[in-house]
Parts: sequence; C-alpha cells; structure tokens
Amino acid sequence: MTEYMPEFEHLVPASLDEALAVLAERPDSRVCAGGTDLLVNMRRGLVEAGTLVDLGMVDALRILKQDDTGLTIGAGVTLAALLKADLDWSQLNALREALAAVAGPTHREMATVGGNLCQDTRCLYYNQSEWWRRSNDYCLKYRGETCHVAPKGNRCRAAYCGDLAPALMVLGAEVSIAGPDGARRVGIGDLFAEDGADHLKLKAGEILVAVHLPRAEGRSTYGKIRQRGAIDFPLAGVAVSCRGRDDGLWFSLAVTGTNSCPVMVEMPAPMTRDDAADVFFRDMSRRVQKAVSPQRTTTVAPHFRRLSVSALAARLARGLAGVADP
Ligand SMILES: Cc1cc2nc3c(=O)[nH]c(=O)nc-3n(C[C@H](O)[C@H](O)[C@H](O)COP(=O)(O)OP(=O)(O)OC[C@H]3O[C@@H](n4cnc5c(N)ncnc54)[C@H](O)[C@@H]3O)c2cc1C
Ligand code: SF4
Repeated sequence: MTEYMPEFEHLVPASLDEALAVLAERPDSRVCAGGTDLLVNMRRGLVEAGTLVDLGMVDALRILKQDDTGLTIGAGVTLAALLKADLDWSQLNALREALAAVAGPTHREMATVGGNLCQDTRCLYYNQSEWWRRSNDYCLKYRGETCHVAPKGNRCRAAYCGDLAPALMVLGAEVSIAGPDGARRVGIGDLFAEDGADHLKLKAGEILVAVHLPRAEGRSTYGKIRQRGAIDFPLAGVAVSCRGRDDGLWFSLAVTGTNSCPVMVEMPAPMTRDDAADVFFRDMSRRVQKAVSPQRTTTVAPHFRRLSVSALAARLARGLAGVADP
C-alpha cells in the first residue's frame, strides 16, 4: 500500500533567533535538519507536524572549531563534513569510528550531528507502515493502549539506536541548547531519559545548538553489532575510552541500541599491574550485561544482544589496553 507524505509548511529561517521564534509561534512545528530520520517517520505517519522548521540556513549551527580547550561541533554539521574535517583526531577515535558506522556514505552527506543525537527511538512494532500498525491496534507509543513488547508494562521500551551518543559520552561531551527561556549547557547524558516514547529532555521550543568536547586524553574506540555490514542501525553498539598509564588504566563505556537511552557503564577502579587481566575484563563484561536491558524491539533476541555487546565491550577494551584476547 502506497504511503503518501502528509502536507506540511516548509519554513527556512536564516538565524537561530528566527528558528526559535517560529517554534514559539507554531506549537505544531518541528525542526528538521537532514531529514533522514524525521521525513521517513512522517511518511509512515509516526510524526505529525504542520510546519517543518528547516535548520539548513542557520550558520550558528554549522560551527566547527578546535582549539587548546577542545572541540565544538555545531548541531547542523553533517556527518560527512565532520568526517572529512581537518581536525586533530588522535584523541577522538571513538567519534570517528562512530561517524563512519552511521548508515551509508550518501546518507551521511545529509545527516547531521544534532539529528543523530535527537533521532527517534526504534521498535519492531512501531517502525512499520500505518496499515500494519493499525491491524495490530497500534501500540502504547502512538495511538494504542498496549505495548506488544512488554504487555504488562506501562512504558514504551523502544530502543535508542544512535551511534554518536555513546562515543560522545565516553569522550566527556556536553551539549548546548537554546530555547524560549534562554541558553543552557548540560552533560550529554542529561539529554536523554529512559522512556521510549519521550526519550529527550528537550523542552518545548528548544533546539540543540552544539556539542562540546573537552581536550581528550587517552584512547577510545567504537564498535557495533548489526545485521548488515552497512546502512544498518546498531542492534547494540559500544564506545570505550581508556585513560592512564603505569599507575592504572581507567575505562569508561557507553552502550547504545539496548535501552531507550544510551547507557553509561563506569568501571569503579582502574586496572593495575596487580590485576589479572582476564578477571578484570570478565568483570567488565558482567557489568555491561547487568547495565543493559535489551527488549524484543528487533528481530534479534534480547539475550543475544546482551551477550554480544558485553563480549564486544571487553574485546574493544582489551585492544585499547594492549592485552591479547584470551
Ligand atoms: C536506512 C537508514 C539507516 C540508518 N542508519 C543509522 C545508523 O546506522 N546509525 C544511526 O545512528 N542512525 C541511523 N539512521 C538514522 C538517521 O538517519 C541518522 O541518525 C541521522 O544522523 C539523523 O540526522 P538528520 O540530520 O537527518 O536528522 P533529522 O531527520 O532531520 O532529525 C531527527 C530528529 O532530530 C530532531 N532534530 C534535528 N536536529 C535537531 C536540533 N538541532 N535540535 C533539536 N532537535 C533536532 C528532529 O526534529 C527529529 O525529531 C538511519 C536512517 C535510515 C533511514
Ligand atoms: S516498545 Fe511497546 S510501546 Fe514502545 S514502540 Fe514497541 S510495542 Fe510500542
């Protein structure tokens, strides 16, 4: 059955203030960056918007600046432009790997950093055509009364599947936000909430302006499990960073694809010379298993996703520490 794009008005503000003013004046409006998530969802009838506020001409969102204090990436910078940018990437490997893992090359030409962070959550029972969802009486996230994944639960468990968020989390990113009440800056973890139907802590009329990364220390990496080698969301993805040297190695991990928001997993103590590496990484793997909570939101079993992401986390961490696989 053909799905038609619903009608909407397309406005192209020339500045951030103008964009904020349109959002304030028109409660049915929605910001659109690359459109690679939003337009697909609108065509499927998952998002209703009378006005699309196109952010493509807002220069303030396209800033890209690296100095001694760190890196600022405007929310409107495309993934392709960021990947090609002449930056010192030496301490930002997790970000570079995560960028290259998003969808495919043509997709990354349109997709933006802000859109990637703010993309909708995903579920097998939700990212379907209108007639398919109607024949299932819809679901809790949109129009329905039951969650088909957890019928006894009262909240949506759709999974957050953005690749960039975990990489930015282990690199210590903050985000700046502009809105009707002025500007604010929060740690990137505080942008998200564990609720598949309402996973962003953005207030009405707010726009994500930029991501700020401190000058990073140490090494980092990102890996994802997916069904196809390209153009595929993560069934689970994990970013790992490792800091320190002789007095011990500190690891931070963040996982995507398993919960309704990206999940941070901190190791409580560093790995020291006295630790048996196999015991340390087994413990890391267990901590990741415990922290995540994959649900039946994809065609792949939750248990497989839990085990494979915990194994992937330990393997990536071993690589950063220079410890061979057992
Ligand atoms: C076939 C396919 C494969 C994909 N594969 C992947 C993948 O592997 N990994 C992955 O992470 N994603 C994937 N995606 C999802 C999506 O394409 C990307 O996440 C992309 O980066 C979204 O960016 P965008 O600029 O196109 O966002 P848009 O579609 O323009 O926006 C997405 C959402 O963010 C909001 N938004 C955008 N910018 C801002 C802002 N500055 N402030 C506040 N809200 C904002 C919009 O209102 C909308 O709700 C895939 C999508 C498709 C269709
Ligand atoms: S997790 Fe449940 S409520 Fe959420 S989209 Fe899936 S079926 Fe719907």
